Amino acid sequence: MKLTVIYDNVSLREDLKPDWGFSCLVETKTLKILFDTGYDPSILFHNMKKLEISPKNIDVVVISHPHLDHTGGLADFLRVNPNVTLYVPQCFPTEIMGVKTVRVKNPIRLSEDTYILGELMNIEQSLLVKTGKGLVLVTGCSHPGLENIIGEASKFGEVYGVIGGFHGFRNYKALEKVSLVCPCHCTVAKKEIEKIFPEKHVKCGVGKVLEFE
Ligand SMILES: [Zn+2]
Ligand SMILES: [Zn+2]
Repeated sequence: MKLTVIYDNVSLREDLKPDWGFSCLVETKTLKILFDTGYDPSILFHNMKKLEISPKNIDVVVISHPHLDHTGGLADFLRVNPNVTLYVPQCFPTEIMGVKTVRVKNPIRLSEDTYILGELMNIEQSLLVKTGKGLVLVTGCSHPGLENIIGEASKFGEVYGVIGGFHGFRNYKALEKVSLVCPCHCTVAKKEIEKIFPEKHVKCGVGKVLEFE
């Protein structure tokens, strides 16, 4: 699978715009999944264009949680591509018209190698992708607590990598068994994570591409 960061507080390339929020593209053998949509639709589309990601080629949109820095680009995106299937957590407050929408409470399988973890603590859901090295977990803000999300994900197998916003996470022990850690977006303890796990840490930012066999 291939993961490309489209929207993040930090940018790794001069032609890509940083902004507070998160979005990434997850490509597997069978699905192109847009995970979250950032805050500002014009920045989302700008970065997608520069990254040569065509909105029309996306099959599935997964929204982690109903905060504007993850849903801001959604309405505009759906106007460009209304043919996706949209997966929102059950707590999602608005009805989305004209698009096939699935409200997720319990874990569901999207394809052979992708799962949505299910809504945790009535706020947020995460994406899980099976790779040859183990499971890769993609999070929005980790409001339910990254350690709890990793705990849930571990029920599906060994978690190899964790990518996304970790918010106020400081329970570093929870990362000991994880081999790749890419703290993005709202992660408060980015510096500490890099310091404690220099060999696992991967710097996040718009334009970051991670590939897993
Ligand atoms: Zn956020
Ligand atoms: Zn949030």
